[in-house]
Amino acid sequence: MEKQILRPDVFIIGAGPAGITAAIYAVRAGLSAVISENAVPGGQISRSSTVENYPGFESISGAELAGRFRRHLYSLGTEIDEFDPILRTEFSDGVKRIFTENHIYEPETVIIASGASPKKLPLESAAKFEGKGVHYCALCDGQAYKGRTVGVVGGGSAAAEEALYLSGIAEKVFVIRRKDYFRAERYLVEKMENTSNIEILYNTDLTDLKGEDFLECAEVRDISSENGKKYDIPLSAVFVCIGSEPGTELLRDNIDLDEYGYIITDEDMKTNISGVFAAGDVRKKHFRQIVNAVSDGAAAALSAEKYISGIKTKRSSKMIKIFSSDSCGYCTKLKAYLDSRKIRYDVIDVDESRENYDKLVEVSGQTGIPVSVFDSGDVVIGFDKPRIDSILGI
Ligand SMILES: Cc1cc2nc3c(=O)[nH]c(=O)nc-3n(C[C@H](O)[C@H](O)[C@H](O)COP(=O)(O)OP(=O)(O)OC[C@H]3O[C@@H](n4cnc5c(N)ncnc54)[C@H](O)[C@@H]3O)c2cc1C
Repeated sequence: MEKQILRPDVFIIGAGPAGITAAIYAVRAGLSAVISENAVPGGQISRSSTVENYPGFESISGAELAGRFRRHLYSLGTEIDEFDPILRTEFSDGVKRIFTENHIYEPETVIIASGASPKKLPLESAAKFEGKGVHYCALCDGQAYKGRTVGVVGGGSAAAEEALYLSGIAEKVFVIRRKDYFRAERYLVEKMENTSNIEILYNTDLTDLKGEDFLECAEVRDISSENGKKYDIPLSAVFVCIGSEPGTELLRDNIDLDEYGYIITDEDMKTNISGVFAAGDVRKKHFRQIVNAVSDGAAAALSAEKYISGIKTKRSSKMIKIFSSDSCGYCTKLKAYLDSRKIRYDVIDVDESRENYDKLVEVSGQTGIPVSVFDSGDVVIGFDKPRIDSILGI
């Protein structure tokens, strides 16, 4: 069965805080929006036990906050499409096409809000303790370990910042680092080294996690020499900071990404492709929190609205004369296409008079139809969609 082609004003990939906010702004601006989600609407916050840094809520569970975001969107009469996964995308300045299992979307604009997920600790035992001692966000879950001993795994600035943040909460923080140096900024490393309750274990590999229901200790190995020993460190939690993975696997060939796969945008959330915007954790940026994901989502939708009103003005100011006839199939297709894009045109019926027929020959030098004549003087013979789009700037 041929897939139905749908043309919403905005297609939003991902229903986390950024995508939901973008949808709320888009719908309130009178735009038609499709929001696609391939896992749990609400995004990463659904996994956060408590959120204590989102204004308006001193303390709220991640699931409750995600539920409130969703209900706000639903109250505007918009649904999240969870059952029509995206198979592939095609983006260039003239074309925005999203192929899902059931449809082909040709939206005016796209907002990519597919987020990021922390890289998982590559240990079998890590899954058993997730949320029970294995955590991926100190800012979010660190308070639960007040006065206890915790570990941080990683070697970048994020790991150093997590360790410093936790040193103000926990009694003792072990930083487990495989190399004998950090990739983190120098001042952060110095700060860690000068913090009395942080102990850095250089050349140390985390090899296992142990405990009954909750994490009780980490097994590590000294890898400074070939016969380095394994030993256990009693601790209540391990915070994993070994990088994150952006949700950009569907976009790799289309959009400009940084070396880690994050989408490069300007401050209005514009990507390298006109009409394609990115918002939230999927974007190259320094801080990945709910408040700035939400802020990005709003900015992306406002930019999308501005882009759409720009192209609509451009289109309505273009005049096209179409030489056609009622019996010509391609003429009907061309007119339907221009209607779907809300582009105005005048029809000159070549069957109606000899004069119209002579005009067709005069402007196009031939007798085939349809022929589109633009106010710019461009003449397009046949239903040549790419050429028409490029003349119209869409
Ligand atoms: C455990 C944990 C606790 C946290 N706690 C806090 C906190 O307390 N405070 C705070 O400010 N921040 C917290 N964060 C960070 C915060 O959750 C993120 O910064 C925020 O969720 C980013 O929002 P987002 O919309 O950009 O992306 P995400 O929340 O990642 O949402 C992206 C959505 O896109 C969907 N998606 C991905 N690919 C596709 C696709 N191909 N098709 C359709 N959908 C797709 C995903 O399933 C997801 O639902 C926490 C993060 C974690 C992991």
